Amino acid sequence: MPFFALDEVTVRFGNLEALRSCTMAVGRGERLALVGPSGSGKSTLLRVLTAAAMPSGGRVSVDGRDLGGLREDEVRALRTRIGFIHQQLGLVPNLRARQNVAAGRIGRFGLVRAVRHVFWPDRGSREAIDRLLGRVGLGDRAETRTDRLSGGQQQRVAIARALWQRPDGVLADEPVSSLDPARARAVLALLTRLSVEDGLTLVVSLHQLDLAREFFPRLVGLRGGRVVFDRPSGEVGEAEFRALYELSEGEMDDDRRAEVA
Ligand code: ADP
Repeated sequence: MPFFALDEVTVRFGNLEALRSCTMAVGRGERLALVGPSGSGKSTLLRVLTAAAMPSGGRVSVDGRDLGGLREDEVRALRTRIGFIHQQLGLVPNLRARQNVAAGRIGRFGLVRAVRHVFWPDRGSREAIDRLLGRVGLGDRAETRTDRLSGGQQQRVAIARALWQRPDGVLADEPVSSLDPARARAVLALLTRLSVEDGLTLVVSLHQLDLAREFFPRLVGLRGGRVVFDRPSGEVGEAEFRALYELSEGEMDDDRRAEVA
């Protein structure tokens, strides 16, 4: 049974179809990269997997459970099983690294316990979080305010926060788009290594063919909300990848106008 499954999923925002009849199944423990130009539907696809966007047609399931018609408490329970790394990270800048990681688990707690867990974690939790920070290469930064960390280090805090949740799957929306090539590669190496070690199902959107090929056995290409290819990454050629990113007619006109101006 797949961990994540989309069956003929369409997502509409007004007149726009962000996803069109997408079908895809991701096995437990599998690693998959979503590629495709801006606006092709990558974020929307990740969001339907946590019931943050609802399909207007088709079915989405996680671990065999249909997401259609879940109650609010069931959606919350589902989200505790899926770590989501947002493009903007969503870390609290004036909290310490350890506190931001602790926040990964508060979806399971009521308010009072959540506050205590973030600000006054018990000794066992504190030690476990610090070990996790060690695994992401920030063993000496637990007490550092998050806004004093570099972009790559903040990315690692976001990864640790997602793992502290003890998820079965991790979804990451362009997690390395703001990093330079060396740091992007290091962060993906870390994310994929930890996923293998913990047996997690990992779906990541990104734009670099070389990185996608290096770290992900399978590539799904999206364009205009449709799945254009879904193949082992070694079988996706440069030309096919470039074609996925080619400008549309309208975008080319804009590009020409910009050149003239
Ligand atoms: P990508 O992640 O590949 O850049 P998105 O999934 O963010 O693509 O967006 C796909 C399309 O859906 C885009 O045209 C975008 O403008 C539109 N879209 C996404 N979210 C919303 C929303 N909440 N409301 C209206 N349109 C949206």
